[in-house]
Amino acid sequence: MKVLVPVKRVVDYNVKVRVAADGSGVETQGVKMSMNPFDEIAVEEAVRLREKGAAKEVVAVTIGAQAAQDVLRMAMAMGADRAILVRTDDTLEPRAVANVLKAIATREEAGLICMGKQAIDDDMNATGQILAAKLGWPQGTFASAVTVADGRVEVAREIDGGTEVVSLTLPAVITADLRLNEPRYASLPNIMKARKKPLETIEIDSLGIDTASRLTVVSVAEPSERKEGVKVNSAAELVEKLKTEAKVI
Ligand code: AMP
Repeated sequence: MKVLVPVKRVVDYNVKVRVAADGSGVETQGVKMSMNPFDEIAVEEAVRLREKGAAKEVVAVTIGAQAAQDVLRMAMAMGADRAILVRTDDTLEPRAVANVLKAIATREEAGLICMGKQAIDDDMNATGQILAAKLGWPQGTFASAVTVADGRVEVAREIDGGTEVVSLTLPAVITADLRLNEPRYASLPNIMKARKKPLETIEIDSLGIDTASRLTVVSVAEPSERKEGVKVNSAAELVEKLKTEAKVI
């Protein structure tokens, strides 16, 4: 079975995100970029499946600019066998990303797509679900445990109030939650080895698919500043403050 792992290049999670001067989005110029953390978890899970013998090959794919090659190299340093860059300078919304991933999954005859539950730049949490619907494949979202056996994949899902276990027929789409695993550290020798692994570039236009935006960003703004809070020592003091200071009761 071939596992396809979509990975996105995003502003590094340690960087304080700032709104671009023209209000069109988030500032990315001169900002450290990295693989989306949930996608690192997805790569780790796919590599573990191959190591256990449940998968034969792990293919990382990203849709983005030439610079996004760095996250593909990182995925290969973590253990992915090869990578595909679908090159575009446009920022695509989840529906368009799902259209592209569907085309790649079909071309690659993927048996499983293992991806992040959300990208930390736009927090959409939508691409996996749209992709599963477009492919007509079952989906196991918010995965905290994954087991592949007998042509099925069992996924423990994090839901409000606990864990739900679903059993999916393959091929399927899984989206990784935080507790699924702890991604391995890419060692220097593996980073060097990853430089020699195959990385294919496909121009997005050559796929001939619909990537038009249906969404328009009206404006992007910093959240308004919040007043500093105070700590109270007792419930009685809280009630007093709500009455006399906040005047809400
Ligand atoms: P989102 O729905 O935008 O929160 O993203 C969910 C997941 O979709 C991410 O964790 C990635 O696995 C995948 N994804 C989103 N955008 C891209 C992209 N441009 N290239 C590759 N994978 C992506």
